Amino acid sequence: TEGEFLDQLDSRIRVVVRKRPMNRKEMDRKEMDIAECCNWDQVQINEPKVKVDLTKYTEHHQFMFDQVFDEETNNQEVYFYTARPLVSGIFSGGHATCFAYGQTGAGKTFTMMGRDGIYVLAAKDIFTMLTRPEYQHLQAEVAFFEIYGGKLFDLLNKRKRLWAREDAKGTVCIAGLREEVVADCDRLMRIIDYGLTSRSVGATGVNADSSRSHAILQITLRAAGDPSRRIHGRISFIDLAGSERAADTMDTNRQTRMEGAEINKSLLALKECIRALDKKSGHTPFRGSKLTMVLKDSFVGNAQTVMIANISPNSLSCENTLNTLRYADRVK
Ligand code: ADP
Ligand code: MG
Repeated sequence: TEGEFLDQLDSRIRVVVRKRPMNRKEMDRKEMDIAECCNWDQVQINEPKVKVDLTKYTEHHQFMFDQVFDEETNNQEVYFYTARPLVSGIFSGGHATCFAYGQTGAGKTFTMMGRDGIYVLAAKDIFTMLTRPEYQHLQAEVAFFEIYGGKLFDLLNKRKRLWAREDAKGTVCIAGLREEVVADCDRLMRIIDYGLTSRSVGATGVNADSSRSHAILQITLRAAGDPSRRIHGRISFIDLAGSERAADTMDTNRQTRMEGAEINKSLLALKECIRALDKKSGHTPFRGSKLTMVLKDSFVGNAQTVMIANISPNSLSCENTLNTLRYADRVK
């Protein structure tokens, strides 16, 4: 109910699961939706949609989340229960972060960075808020970068290599990161589309496989013309590397193995940092990876986090789906 939903908003971490529909190719190949699989493996999402039952051969697993979205759910609805509640928080000076986790092909980019993805819907609300008299002094600035093999690349500046620095006060900043002032959705979407093209094709023409990189889109509120460039509030949208890549640590190719190890490290560090956020005290191990280091502000103070765990409907992906549900379960 609406009331229960509002109660949950007190919590600084929300974890939801989203299952995408079967696509044409999968249907042409006569692959099975794991909900309708009559053999061993099955995933069930029953009303009220907070629980996922996964049966793999003879093992049963049950997981509880804040919300579970099936293939019927569109981005609008996912947005309503995930990033939308975070938008007002950034106007009152907070940091909000929205992660898409899951195996390659499960729907992370569609959910987060698509044409009607979560970032666009959030931006629409942000631009509307910015027209209010009390926020007239603020402006929105966008940055879009990726972390590939533990290195930072600016997606809005020809994949220029960047370095993160931590100052004496412990503030982490990325030196030379391009930030564009944006005042409307059309311009923002053009900027992100441009960034997405340089996500897969590097300046040298060498492909950086997007399944092996974390893409980070940040919308930052600052007072226009403030020379100190103090951050008023910030929301980050993160399209994580394919979770199955974390298992590439056994690959025969050295490069692949090293990238897999880096992804594994960052996803583990991320889980630990989000968990530390809920405990409110103690140590946040943000130095555990480049990903968590550049997101340090998202794990301290009055930060709020949402994780969308994307799963594939394909019964052939059962093992990866189980791993995704386990990861998401432990974040909570
Ligand atoms: P990932 O980024 O996790 O690798 P994508 O977002 O690229 O996965 O999704 C894989 C394919 O499935 C894409 O063609 C995408 O458009 C499609 N897709 C993903 N989620 C949905 C959805 N909820 N509804 C319709 N199509 C989807
Ligand atoms: Mg993707």
